[in-house]
Amino acid sequence: MKTCQLCGKAIEFGSRAKKYCSEECRKRVKYEKDRAWCKANPEKVTAYARKWYADNRELMQRQGRDIYRQKVMAKNKEEK
Ligand SMILES: [Zn+2]
Repeated sequence: MKTCQLCGKAIEFGSRAKKYCSEECRKRVKYEKDRAWCKANPEKVTAYARKWYADNRELMQRQGRDIYRQKVMAKNKEEK
């Protein structure tokens, strides 16, 4: 019988899962790993975020405008 490496719950026989019992446990492990990595490499995280923002500046600005427009439209709807 396989058991979840995170919570220790038994994994159903025949389940395709190998290490973790559920999607939540898998996500949890990934999240913890990512967080540990970010903590260990803060300068890489900052550099990555900065690069991503530089690459996507236009997208972010456009998105910001769209969100603003949606907000205005939603407000107009409410008032009508
Ligand atoms: Zn589990």
